[in-house]
Amino acid sequence: MIYLVVAIISLLLGSFFNVCIHRLYSGESIVYPPSHCPSCKHSLGPLDLVPVFSYLALMGKCRYCGERISPRYPVVELLTSISYILLYKVIGLGWGFAAYSIFLGILIIITFIDLEHQIIPNILIVIGLVMGLLFSLINITTGITDALLGFALGFGSLLLVALLAKLLLRKDGMGGGDIKLLGVIGLFLGWKLTLLTLLLSIYIGGIFSIILLLLRIKKKGDYIPFGPFISLAGFIALLWGKNIIQWYVGVSF
Ligand SMILES: [Zn+2]
Repeated sequence: MIYLVVAIISLLLGSFFNVCIHRLYSGESIVYPPSHCPSCKHSLGPLDLVPVFSYLALMGKCRYCGERISPRYPVVELLTSISYILLYKVIGLGWGFAAYSIFLGILIIITFIDLEHQIIPNILIVIGLVMGLLFSLINITTGITDALLGFALGFGSLLLVALLAKLLLRKDGMGGGDIKLLGVIGLFLGWKLTLLTLLLSIYIGGIFSIILLLLRIKKKGDYIPFGPFISLAGFIALLWGKNIIQWYVGVSF
């Protein structure tokens, strides 16, 4: 029963994230005007706002002008729902769930803005930094010392990578947004899980890039946003990081 409640609320949350993804980039307000078709500007009725199902019922087209609706809408809603169900399954309800719900929301919104526009809006970083600091001060996510170490490790390591890439390869290997994002993740997860996030993001990013090159979706030298890999790695580290580290230490030593 509680799973159903989490699933429904998170579908609605996913629909709200879609609004954030669209409006944070275009600079519109999150709350006003009410949801409307980006093409014909017709405001949407309650039926148009039912997550996933309205997209399927309308077969991906706007009810009013017939313009194609981006499949990103149902994808974000479904992904959001699956992520929150997993979050609930692993950490249960409580203050931790509340804190990491905000963390997860930031990761999801950043992922899709970065995929579409190759940018990570500073407002999301600021919200993440403030929340991450707050939750660690009241000991909900991790202690403040661990959080600050995590921030320093996350921010510092990617900054170093960026500086080295600029010095040695004379190119911008790492965007400023990616550096700040790993800093935010550090605040929420502490230093151990941040180190794991860094490693996982490099593995996942590497594997995906090879697949994209092999399938010729991307060419050598094409830009591939790194923010989604960092976000996915941060999510995996949050849910299963402690087990992964235990397993790794057990195998190696
Ligand atoms: Zn329309």
